[in-house]
Amino acid sequence: MVTVNPEFLVLAGGHPEFRATLNQADLAVADGVGVVLASWLLGTPLPARLTGVDLADELAGLAAARGYGVYLLGAAPGVAQQAAEALRQRHPGLVISGAYAGAPGPDEEEALVERINAAGPRILLVAFGSPQQELWIARQRERLQVAVAIGVGGAFDFFSGKVRRAPRWMRALGLEWLYRLLREPWRWRRMLRLPVFAVRVLLQRLRG
Ligand code: UDP
Repeated sequence: MVTVNPEFLVLAGGHPEFRATLNQADLAVADGVGVVLASWLLGTPLPARLTGVDLADELAGLAAARGYGVYLLGAAPGVAQQAAEALRQRHPGLVISGAYAGAPGPDEEEALVERINAAGPRILLVAFGSPQQELWIARQRERLQVAVAIGVGGAFDFFSGKVRRAPRWMRALGLEWLYRLLREPWRWRRMLRLPVFAVRVLLQRLRG
């Protein structure tokens, strides 16, 4: 599963491997108000925004109800464990198959896949940031013995309490991106993709 935001789409335009990865996903949700707005402007309306963090939380609730194991891979050392503990408190009975920081580089790939398969989770949440997490999952797709794998970006940072999420009113107004930019100004460079996305959507709209 992939959680698509405008930055993904601009990057995918010049990155054939990432583009193929997004197109080959079994389920793509709109993580980012820009994708939802674009879908309306271009005549293929999507029902709503669904972020990686909310999707991971929903999946954890489902996993707790059905007894599916969840594995948390990625984020800074210790954060996946803290996120797992927070999820277990939110969803009593949740089975955590494992939580491990790991790294997206090629040296560790084989060992990581073995580690995850040995733990036997049904659901794998990967927080390596984009596009590394999506590319990592795509490369390991055939070897991973899981039912669902999903890149969740900063979700573990939110679950663990390391990073605060935008207030509900800002999310409701579609301003979560602004909140994140103000809290983490280093994001400005990657956010330069947003105006590029807006211009491309408008041009496509004008061309009909
Ligand atoms: N990360 C990681 N390894 C890396 C690069 C990033 O574990 O080599 C983690 C980072 O600690 C963070 C997540 O990946 O938890 C990316 O979060 P970010 O806020 O950038 O993702 P977004 O939500 O913006 O997609």
